[in-house]
Amino acid sequence: MKLPSDQRKTRPIAGVLFKLPLMIDCETFEGFITEYLDGVMPMRRHFVFTMHLRLCPECRAYLKQYEKTIAMTRSQSEIGYSEMGMGPVPDDLVNAVLAAQNVAVKK
Ligand SMILES: [Zn+2]
Repeated sequence: MKLPSDQRKTRPIAGVLFKLPLMIDCETFEGFITEYLDGVMPMRRHFVFTMHLRLCPECRAYLKQYEKTIAMTRSQSEIGYSEMGMGPVPDDLVNAVLAAQNVAVKK
């Protein structure tokens, strides 16, 4: 019995790519998401990030869901802050960046 030809083609390629130095695993990818969405990601990391995004449908779906959640959270907090006359406060942003850096340092 033969494997479907598309499986034989894609699986070994993905397996090799994920072992290259520039490739990151799904866990690392998740750790980079806040940085990516805040637009503070260094170019080299941005490259490995988008590379993983292309290769991994699960992370594409995850990122989409994440963006949706962030958009909802932001619009809610902006309403809250403007009611207090402060405008959007970057505390969330700072925390997100710090969290992303912790992940990067651990790695
Ligand atoms: Zn992934």
